[in-house]
Amino acid sequence: MSGIQVASSEVVRDINRRVVLNLIRTKQPISRADLARVSGLQRSTISLIVEELIAKQWVLEGPTGRLPRGRRPTFLRLNDERVIIGVDIRPTQITVALSDVNGKFASQEAMATPATPKIAMESIVSRVQRLLRSCAGKKMVEGIGISVPGRVDPGSERLVFAPNLHWPDFDLRVPVEKATGCEVELENAANACVLAAVWFDHMDCRNMVVVTVSEGIGTGVLANGHVVRGFSGMAGEFGHVPLDLKGPQCTCGSRGCWEVFASNRAALRYYFESGANAGTAGGLNFLDLLRLADQGDARAAQALETMAHYLGRGMRMIVAGLDPEQIVVIGDLTRAWSRFGPVIQAEVQAQVLPGGVAPRLLPVHEDGMARLRGTVALVLQKHFGVNREVPA
Ligand SMILES: [Zn+2]
Repeated sequence: MSGIQVASSEVVRDINRRVVLNLIRTKQPISRADLARVSGLQRSTISLIVEELIAKQWVLEGPTGRLPRGRRPTFLRLNDERVIIGVDIRPTQITVALSDVNGKFASQEAMATPATPKIAMESIVSRVQRLLRSCAGKKMVEGIGISVPGRVDPGSERLVFAPNLHWPDFDLRVPVEKATGCEVELENAANACVLAAVWFDHMDCRNMVVVTVSEGIGTGVLANGHVVRGFSGMAGEFGHVPLDLKGPQCTCGSRGCWEVFASNRAALRYYFESGANAGTAGGLNFLDLLRLADQGDARAAQALETMAHYLGRGMRMIVAGLDPEQIVVIGDLTRAWSRFGPVIQAEVQAQVLPGGVAPRLLPVHEDGMARLRGTVALVLQKHFGVNREVPA
């Protein structure tokens, strides 16, 4: 924190307020004296900012502490009556959840994903309205964060390119805002996972790539401390870079994309193609495949190993292009990390050029929660983010 420049302009006052709010978030309970010490700001500046945050009900004064020599500081913490509604849209399931500002979830409700965005929007709105009614008079709803398995156009903020959802280009934000009266933040699911990692897991890492592996492969990129969205919001679509133009058809219209070789669906295809009993393989899902491999089914184990090789091979693009410090892997495959980790690591290692450093591979075992916590971070970053994206 010592590197933060303090000045007197409006902009810097706003930055100082964010720095203080974020310090309370990460170090709570904390006294005013410790806030001054850790931030490097004047004690009087801290007092002014804290009074403002208390008046606006962002911060509460907690119990009085006891220190030697008779000092009795008052500790500050975030007001957990401020809540955020998170919506995670997946190709098969939509989850609507209520979280406090600390990322602690009070409730979660899941439903099957409707076939059209219009029906999905109406179902989301009715669940959000129910949550709003349950909060009325008790909790302050700060906003709604939505994560989508697609990209968000930076101009129109419409949902574009959601090939695994099979939805057309669609405006989700404005109708949900109009129907609920809450501000809505919309973000790609992999980017939401990047935000969850830096906001809630406090990953002190400015160069990180999150790879989400499920029906498809999503990638979120944090470069030099910023989420990379690109010119048209499409940055990070490594999952749709073809590894083999003669490969199987992809949902994006192209052939042989990384995700048709390395997603959960790819592993099921390998299992099928290996001559596994079609009767059993028909209704199989990826978790069944993991279980079969654990039970000693050699074809299932081989299918997963092939998937792992392709995952690592695809990550070579990420290593060569972005040189991340770490690659966070999210998805059901992390349940069998002893099977996947070493294969992926060896493939990635093979790409590292002389002078380069292999990224750390980090499996995250809480698939659904990473996205949901990302939706909370989306709303938090408006108030807490110093560069409006990642914490101070
Ligand atoms: Zn594709």
